[in-house]
Parts: sequence; C-alpha cells; structure tokens
Amino acid sequence: MTLARPLIAGNWKMNGVEASLDEARTLAALVDERPPAARVALCPPATLIARMADLLAGSGILVGGQDCSREAGGAFTGDVSADMLIDAGARLVILGHSERREHRGETDAVVAAKVARAVAAGLEPIVCVGESLKARQAGRAIAVVDGQVRASLPDVLAGHPFAVAYEPLWAIGSGQIPELGEIEAVHGAVRETLAAMFGPDGEGAPILYGGSVNGDNAQPILKAREIGGALVGGASLKAAQFARIIRAI
Ligand code: PEP
Repeated sequence: MTLARPLIAGNWKMNGVEASLDEARTLAALVDERPPAARVALCPPATLIARMADLLAGSGILVGGQDCSREAGGAFTGDVSADMLIDAGARLVILGHSERREHRGETDAVVAAKVARAVAAGLEPIVCVGESLKARQAGRAIAVVDGQVRASLPDVLAGHPFAVAYEPLWAIGSGQIPELGEIEAVHGAVRETLAAMFGPDGEGAPILYGGSVNGDNAQPILKAREIGGALVGGASLKAAQFARIIRAI
C-alpha cells in the first residue's frame, strides 16, 4: 500500500470571471518559486475551466470541475458531462459537495452514479461527505459519514485514483472547526471503511479535511493523523492566502 501524495484543492464555487484568472496566474508563480509537497488543484466555475487549464498548463497546478452530470450526454439542458470536463482540460472533479446535496437534492445514489461517470471519463473524483450539526450533537457524526462513504463510492472506483473530503456541514464557511481529535476520529473511521471497500487503494487514497481552513489554522490540521490534504472554499479565492495553506503541509 502506498499513501498517495497529499492534495490541496481550492473550490471557487460560483465565484470567478475572467479577471479572477489573475489569482491563478499569481498562484502558479508562487508554486513555481517553491514547489509544494502536496498536489495542488483549483476548481473554478465551469465557464473558466478551459481558460484556466490553458493558463496553468505546465505549472503543476491541476484544474478540476465542481460537479458533473450522471448522464453521458444528450437532452439535459444546463448540465455539464464528465467528458466535457476532460475536454476542457479538467483532471479532477468535486462530487457530492454538501451544497449540491442540500440545494440540489443529490442523494448518495446520485453521487455514486456521478462518481462512476467521472471515473469512466478519466477524471479523479473528490467525493465529499460530512455530517450536519444536529447529527454531530446527537453523537452520530461517524455513523452518518460512514454511511455516506459506503453509499457514495461505487465499486468501479477500484483501481482508479480518488480522494474523499470530510467536510462537516457546520464548518463550511462558518469559521468553526471541529477539535483536531474529532477530525482524526472521523478520518480514522473513513480510512477503515475505505480499506474494507477497496483494499490497498482504499488504504492509500487521500482523505482531505474541508471546512473553514485558512492560512492561520491550516498547519495543525494538515499535520494531524490521516489528513491527506484539504478542500478549501473561501480561502482559495486569493492566491496569497491559498499559498499559505499549500505551504503548511
Ligand atoms: C467548501 O465549500 O468545500 C469549503 C471547505 O468551504 P470553506 O473553506 O469556505 O469553509
């Protein structure tokens, strides 16, 4: 079993226009100055993927999508397929983000279908899981996350690169972060489940933490047990702040 190189991925969500590519340009320069220990990815809105991929070609920074359709193509107005993401230059894709589960009604089964489609297209999925505040307060965090991992990661992932991002819903964009021990406990449980589901591939896949990570708090989180990187929202929008997180590992 080989532990995959850590991954720090920035999720720009529905933020960014052409002028925002200056941040990607600045990040590429910062990464070039001091090559990072982690793989680095930026996941801009779909409208910027091709331009960002062109801009970052040869920089070592990967580009990812924030979602893809579970369908291969056809009459699905407004949707973006996994093949289209690849064609635009994306190499990864975030799937099952809590904002899609919550606002777009995506169930574990939908997420699993999207993961299967992404893998078939050659994308590396970052599959998001995480409990609500209510579930954590009821002592059900690990049970909820474990259930999501089992139901959102299809068997076809075996033999393909993938990552899981543990993102407690109440930590996203809130400035609140679980205790390190709480993060480690969830990551340890996810690791056991991944190992049981995928053998050596599951033992080595990076498990990212996501939720209010910034340049000030990144170091202890990224050095904690079973933390294979971070999925970063707000703090990935500015190159200087994101670079501080990248250098914390
Ligand atoms: C996210 O939405 O994936 C996320 C981690 O957001 P933030 O870093 O802003 O909490």
